[in-house]
Amino acid sequence: MENKNTIQDKCPLCHNKDIYDLRKRFEYTLSVCRGCDFMFVKEDFNYSDYYNRYYFDNYDNPEAFCSNIKNDGTEVSYADNRNEHKKVYTNILLLLNRFKKLKNSNLLDVGCAEGYGLLVAKDMGSNVFGVDVSVDAINRCKEKKIRDVYSGELSELPVRNIDVVIMNDVLEHMRDPNKNLQALNKIMNESGVVFVKNNLFSLNSFKNDQNYFERQFEPPYHCSYFSKKRMIEVFNKHGFKLVYQKPKFVYYMFELYSFMKRLLSKKQRQMHCNNKKTRLSKKERNIYSTGSFLGRFVNEFFPSGFVFKKVRNI
Ligand SMILES: [Zn+2]
Repeated sequence: MENKNTIQDKCPLCHNKDIYDLRKRFEYTLSVCRGCDFMFVKEDFNYSDYYNRYYFDNYDNPEAFCSNIKNDGTEVSYADNRNEHKKVYTNILLLLNRFKKLKNSNLLDVGCAEGYGLLVAKDMGSNVFGVDVSVDAINRCKEKKIRDVYSGELSELPVRNIDVVIMNDVLEHMRDPNKNLQALNKIMNESGVVFVKNNLFSLNSFKNDQNYFERQFEPPYHCSYFSKKRMIEVFNKHGFKLVYQKPKFVYYMFELYSFMKRLLSKKQRQMHCNNKKTRLSKKERNIYSTGSFLGRFVNEFFPSGFVFKKVRNI
């Protein structure tokens, strides 16, 4: 990869020059800004080259970066996971429809990949637009007869008057979030809505937990590491107001459920060791299945993610 030795010498978010190096992984450095605690990959890399050649190298390859792991532990390629993508997008769109009617809206999917989300949105009556850094992804959209798709970055988009935007797992991939959100503000209508879901990170965990660091610091394709607070701030700065986030009690419910599940599986393991024929009692089985049913139910009503509304032009 060319340009790899070029170094970011200031915070990409607040442009403060007071930064320090936290740790290294895969020859990349996680740097932290002393001004705003934003975390980022210090070394530069050729962004579009990287995505076009490496990231979506092969949609059909289960061993590629973009593959997904199924419940049974087997890997499935990005393309073969299309039903899952469709389900995820359906939930996102149903959520957005509460804030902005999708029918006849202009909808843009940022990081649209092969266009699974765009096809679902089209079925729901939106005029769809897509952008992705991967040329290959855009060609695949065109094969699916999605016309208004562009390879490149948000700031290069020739579209206007967008009402609804989806940014699903893209913010952490953006080298310059300010530039992208500024561009987003320009192409959107006032009172337009943006769905955002991305990995949120904690500086304390990066500092104190080696496992967390190794699991979560995935350079270079994850290059911007937002805490929830910083993410909301950067959207506010660019003219967006937070109008939805998954309520806290839902997280507590899930925590309680996973705690119960751990208790039960420990018990299950012990029973299994003592007598291989013993299984969970009927009552315990019910708790298990009710839990997963509730999980799905709750997820439908309180989907993960954030919704921002555009409140001013910048
Ligand atoms: Zn900063």
